[in-house]
Amino acid sequence: MNYRIGMGYDVHRLVEGRELWLCGVKIEHSLGLLGHSDADVAIHALCDALLGAACLRDIGYHFPDTDPQYKGIDSRKLLVEVMRLLAEKGYQLGNCDITICAERPKINPHIPAMQAELARCMNCDPSQVSIKATTTERLGFVGREEGIAAHAVALLIHNS
Ligand code: MG
Repeated sequence: MNYRIGMGYDVHRLVEGRELWLCGVKIEHSLGLLGHSDADVAIHALCDALLGAACLRDIGYHFPDTDPQYKGIDSRKLLVEVMRLLAEKGYQLGNCDITICAERPKINPHIPAMQAELARCMNCDPSQVSIKATTTERLGFVGREEGIAAHAVALLIHNS
């Protein structure tokens, strides 16, 4: 078996007048994440972890934020495309683990729905998709609620 590990990290700014999407789930909140796409920071970190594991550059390389075709795009579509790229290279997902750093809103109640949604996009079992949440104890830009950060790691298995 050929195992490959990758990591990803992303940050988006919290602003008024935007929807808040995390792991493909819309969360009711007074603020949303700003970005060229739907700004789903957790899916972006996950895509970078998956691409990194396969040594396939990063999300900005494949889906440039200067390209009008990605304006407002549902990040789940980017994740599906990343999985297609991996499959083309002979990779399948072993497991992935995401940590979302946010002061507010509470993420934990949404985690089962997020796991189910990402597993659906990646065509895997929800047990292969771990999602965790933490605050940063009111420290830094996350603590000041200026933005949300996400970290992800992914393990891929090559079919060779
Ligand atoms: Mg991003």
